[in-house]
Amino acid sequence: MKKIQMVDLQTQYQSLKPVIDQNIQNVIDSARFINGPDVKSLQQELSDYLGVKHVITCGNGTDALQISLMALDLKPGDEVITADFTFAATVEVIGLLNLTPVLVDVNPDTFNIDLEQVKKAITPKTKAIIPVHLFGQAVDMEPLLKIAEEYNLYVVEDNAQAIGSEYKFSDGRVAKTGTMGTLGTTSFFPSKNLGCYGDGGAIFTNDDHLAHRLRGIVNHGMYKRYYHDEIGVNSRLDSIQATVLRTKLPYLDIYNEKRIQAATLYNRLLGDCEQVILPFHDAKSKHVFHQYTLRIKNGKRDALAEHLKEKNIPFGIYYPVPLHMQKAYMRDEFVHKNYPVTNQLVQEVISLPMHTELEVEQQEYICGIVLDLLKWKIE
Ligand SMILES: *Cc1c(COP(=O)(O)O)cnc(C)c1O
Repeated sequence: MKKIQMVDLQTQYQSLKPVIDQNIQNVIDSARFINGPDVKSLQQELSDYLGVKHVITCGNGTDALQISLMALDLKPGDEVITADFTFAATVEVIGLLNLTPVLVDVNPDTFNIDLEQVKKAITPKTKAIIPVHLFGQAVDMEPLLKIAEEYNLYVVEDNAQAIGSEYKFSDGRVAKTGTMGTLGTTSFFPSKNLGCYGDGGAIFTNDDHLAHRLRGIVNHGMYKRYYHDEIGVNSRLDSIQATVLRTKLPYLDIYNEKRIQAATLYNRLLGDCEQVILPFHDAKSKHVFHQYTLRIKNGKRDALAEHLKEKNIPFGIYYPVPLHMQKAYMRDEFVHKNYPVTNQLVQEVISLPMHTELEVEQQEYICGIVLDLLKWKIE
């Protein structure tokens, strides 16, 4: 059996090696390392794939969020609502811009932002919501967009974990995640569903004016060469990363399908165990399983983690601490008991190896060891 890894980027690379190597060599030969033709083409190809008018690439997924909030012209003290249970980058950029983060609890099934809590958190100062399509599953966007419309709020979808996922509206219309809000952002960090070989990110929008602003902000606030109309940042995807992403984009749906297949097998192997809660799948969403995350009942999560460590099986605890308890983000307004779901999830979740190269034999081995501890053998 091949060595089990949380993410196996080597094997995925081997399958594309001749093309990737050639494409990287072409960029080096052209010496157009920054803003070369590959970057332009990637933006167009992503825009076609996602069905969104504008794609603006940038340095990473955190920058994508920060630049998005900058383009919305929010003022210090404006409130931005996001989930208590997500990667810290989401709330970090709110703080960096001197906006006020408002954290709300999540849904115990989908782990995504709880829309009842969103409604309760809205005040006259609220200007935006950042829903995170966590672990690859779409937030319930239709009611969220209704709330945003009713209260006149911007929606910035953090799609770092769900590129290629879809959401189905009640009228049957299907949209890709990241394209439904005012703006959408993603990350091309190597282990994401569409990853490059370094750092990378992108912002999506159908709004021409915002697209223009975003292109200026990523480039030092320059709208005309050497005329700086506002303070921007320097955040760009380089051509080598762009060519890697262009090579991989045609395989994104296949990659996501492989993740879904692996998740289906995990579900089958673990489904009879009473101690685990399998990942919930909302029928309105195409879950692309950035992570395969179980909830372990009866306080056994840490024992399972210990057991996996002993057996050399990689796993992840995403996320071990709610954002409202992180030193950097604590505020008096965040009352611990108002986050019952997140408080419970951080004690119960565990993510198993998930990537495009998992083999049946590896998954059977992993599940055997999980069930071994939870006292339920595979026949
Ligand atoms: C990975 C990630 C980010 C940040 O992306 P980087 O490219 O690492 O900056 C932001 N939000 C979420 C939910 C993520 O998973």
